[in-house]
This record gives sequence, structure tokens and C-alpha cells, in this order.
Amino acid sequence: MLKFKKTSSALLTGKEPKVPEGLWIKCDACGELLYKEDVKQNHYVCYKCGKYFRITTKKRLRMVMDKGSYEKWDEGMESKDPLNYPDYQEKTASLRERFGIDEAVTCGQGTIHGERAVVCVCDGRFLMGSMGYIVGEKITRAVERATREKLPVIIFTCSGGARMQEGMVSLMQMAKTSAALKRHSNAGLLYISVLTDPTTGGVTASFAMLGDIILAEPGALVGFAGPRVIEQTIRQKLPEGFQRAEFLLEHGLIDNIVEREELKETLAKLIVMHNRVQPKEALIPNRRKSSVRLEENKRKEKVSAWERVQRARAQDRPGAFEYIQEIFTDFIEFHGDRHFADDGAIVGGIAYLDGCPVTVIGQQKGKTTKENITRNFGMPSPEGYRKSLRLMKQAQKFHRPIICFVDTPGAFCGMEAEERGQGEAIARNLFEMSDLTVPVLSIVIGEGGSGGALALAVGNEVWMMENSTYTILSPEGFASIMWKDASKASKAAEGMRVTAEDLKELGIIEKIIPEAQPANAQNIVKIAEIMQEEIRRFLHEYLPLEEGQLAIQRYERFRNM
Ligand SMILES: [Zn+2]
Repeated sequence: MLKFKKTSSALLTGKEPKVPEGLWIKCDACGELLYKEDVKQNHYVCYKCGKYFRITTKKRLRMVMDKGSYEKWDEGMESKDPLNYPDYQEKTASLRERFGIDEAVTCGQGTIHGERAVVCVCDGRFLMGSMGYIVGEKITRAVERATREKLPVIIFTCSGGARMQEGMVSLMQMAKTSAALKRHSNAGLLYISVLTDPTTGGVTASFAMLGDIILAEPGALVGFAGPRVIEQTIRQKLPEGFQRAEFLLEHGLIDNIVEREELKETLAKLIVMHNRVQPKEALIPNRRKSSVRLEENKRKEKVSAWERVQRARAQDRPGAFEYIQEIFTDFIEFHGDRHFADDGAIVGGIAYLDGCPVTVIGQQKGKTTKENITRNFGMPSPEGYRKSLRLMKQAQKFHRPIICFVDTPGAFCGMEAEERGQGEAIARNLFEMSDLTVPVLSIVIGEGGSGGALALAVGNEVWMMENSTYTILSPEGFASIMWKDASKASKAAEGMRVTAEDLKELGIIEKIIPEAQPANAQNIVKIAEIMQEEIRRFLHEYLPLEEGQLAIQRYERFRNM
């Protein structure tokens, strides 16, 4: 998992530290004197307060690329001066000489832990990293070449926005770079943007926010309008931390924050996950082993529906995260719906099963009161469903199967959820999931609470754990509506047919996964082992199917209900 340290308050200040000459430097954030060599060793992060220093293109490339692998593209392009702006040509010429860089962006290709990628680095020293013709053109050419050569693109953004000295020509670079990225995306290729301090204006409103995966450095300021402009417009002081990377993560705008120490490793891992061709020998289930297990389970005790309801709700029952950790490897979590928030009630990301990349999504309850507040007791908000859909679309783009873990008392019923379209968000998932062209498997691991559960359960197959439930509404709710008496919930549970056994009989689900009793942290290894074997069997069966066939099979599955 990506490391994600707590941000110190110094990261959130607007100060812009520079690294002066000499053996010692002073951190502008905490005021401490720092030994320069130690700062360098610490990836140009203040070792006293954690403040990230802005770094040069050369240092960035050295930090991320394999030694000697980077080859620069399109250097020395002729600049445009459409406004005949006074001293513009002289100014850019002197910056070029002073910093030894070609323009505000350097583009080229190289390898990261051996993985080939097109990498572009913006440099804030060159007219605030503003995007004029050359920046737009170099990025566009790099992306076009990446499309031709089927390479992933990584852009390190750092920019004050469009370049005023070039007027409307500069504005057009936003559309030009975005259009090139659209073609790159349509070709099924990966684009990762890494937002560094500061990324604002026309760059934020174009290539910075278009990554399949958007990462940011801790404390980086990222926004469309700069803080000063906002303060002048609204005539109010902005709160501390506004528009910083941590704020963006909370507001669902980026996938994660990555520390410099982890950056190279993370990028390499992500590229590999997207390059990986499914190994043929993978995902071959051990048929005998697995069928024996399912068979064993048939001689089991008689358990009442109400008892199943209690077990499905048990506090110590394994949740989505625990199954993900137990069944898959190298899980990388992604956050946010890219619009409003990151909903803790839904978690998701990429992981491997037998070296095959899969997208995993799950509803997640908390184990403690504090965690339950973050996760809203596993009741997703519209932004949670929108996050899940975003990840499913991403899975489709990269031909990854999708495994969903369903565990919710229901979608969140609150004013805010209604304001943001809870009904629309659920409906959209049903609509879009119906014709996804990758295999979709949904497993009800705890409570399958009504529409809020179904929004992750439009699968080619739907399975239930032996002690999970899947319901139109809670037995308490059913009793209170039908008999005006919530205390008759146990009676309702029997009549509603909410257990895995009932639903398999009704043809609502395909499979029941047996559970070692009780289902808790002690027994998860045993339970997950059976589940893993069954998932392997599912993928073995569904991965070879044609894309259209998968959608038709899913359509027919629900059409027959
Ligand atoms: Zn400091």
C-alpha cells in the first residue's frame, strides 16, 4: 500500500523554500538550519519538519529515472511571440541559459526500474512553469509519440497556469494537450500525473487533472484559481490547508499522496500492473481441492435466518479490506470520485491474483467507533458509488476483471446524500455495470442491504458467504412496514428469504462460500483460502470469454429474473 504520513502543519503554509548555496540551508517553513547533504539524502524534504522543497528538473529526473536512461525529446524548438511582448524573447533566452533547461517543460523517454515510459517534467523556475506554445507543443508531441509507440506517459506538473505573454495561443495549449491525451487514452494507454507544488490555472484545468491515476506530493498546492485570487474575489481569508494535496485527497480529486521516498517504486509498480499480460499458467484452479471443500460444507448444522442476520452483522466479521489483503497481493488503493469527496464506505484499487491484475472494490464498515465514523458504518454516499464506477471504467479500459465485496446495511439515507443524487448514483452503477466488457464478480460478504448493495452486485456471477444476507430491506424495517412492529424482525427474517441458501434456491445467486465458524480474524485464513480458490475458478472460466459475450451473459443473467 502507498505510504501516507500525517502532514505536518508546516507543509500547509504557503511559503516557498529555496535551496541556497553553501553547506547549510535554512528551512523557510520551520526556520531550522539544515545540513545540505542530509536534505539531499532526504529527497529534498526538510528532515526537521517534513516540508517539501521544490526541486529542479535535473534532480527530479535523477530521483525517478534509471541512471543514464533518459533521452530528451524536442529540445531547441523555436518559440512563438504572438503578442510581440516586450523583452519576451530575451527573457526566455536568459532563463534558458541560467537554468540550463530548454523551456518550462522537459520531455523524453527512459526507464523506471526497467519499465519504459515517456516522462515530462515541468520546472517552476522557468516563468513559473507557465504553459506557452513550446510547453504545449512539447507535451503534445511527447504524448503523440507515446501513443504511436504504445508507451505510458508520466507528467510531473508544476505551473502557474497559462503563459500571459503569449495570450490566446497559450490558452489553446490546454485544448491541444488534452486532445492528445484523449487519443492516448483511447488507445488504451496509461497516463499518470504527479502534481507537485504548485500546480494551478490552465495546467490544472488540462493535463494535470486528466491522469488515469493522479498522484500528488505531500503539501503540494493544487487549484484552478490561486489562493490570492480567491481571497480577493470572496474577500475572506482561506482556511489553512485549503487547496493542498491533503485537501484534494479528502475532496476526492486525486487518487493518493505519495512521498518522494516511495515515488520511483510506486510509479514502476503502477506501470508493471498496467503492462502485465495475463500469464497463461495463472489462475488454474485446483478443482479437486476446491470441490472437496464445498462438499464438506454440505453437512452443516441448521441455522435460523435470524441467526444468520446476526452473524452477517457481527462486529468482528471480516470486512472487504481483510479479504483483499488475504486473497490478493500488492494492493494499491485509489481514492475519490474526482468530483466531491473520497467516501470511506467504499474502498477500491488494483491488486494481483496469481500475477493477474484485478480491480477490487468493496464496501467497508469500521471495527471501532472512530473508524465507523470515517466509514459511515459501511453506508456509501453518492460519491462512494461514483468512485466505484470510476474504478470499474478504469478496469474496463485496461481489461482488468472486477471483484466486488458487498457489505452494507444500505446506501446512506441522509440529506446530503439526497442533495447529491443518491438515487442517480445507484441507478448509474446498475446502468453502466450492465454492459462492462470485463468479467465482474460480486461477493456478498456480510450484509447485502438493498439497492445500496445491488449497486456493486451487477455481476456475471453473484456469490454469498454462508452467513451473509441479501435483502430488499432490513428485517426490522420489513416487520415495521408489514406488521407495524419492528420487534417481529426475527419472524420477518424467516419469511423474507434473506439467507444464502434461500437465494441460491431462488436463482438470485450462483454460489455459497462456506465459512469456518466463527467468521473472524482467527478464521479468515481458512475462509479466504476457499474464496480465493473459487475466484481463481471464476477468472479461469470468464477471462477467455469475448468482451461482448461477457456483457450479453450479464444481461441474460438479470433478464431472466
Ligand atoms: Zn523545516
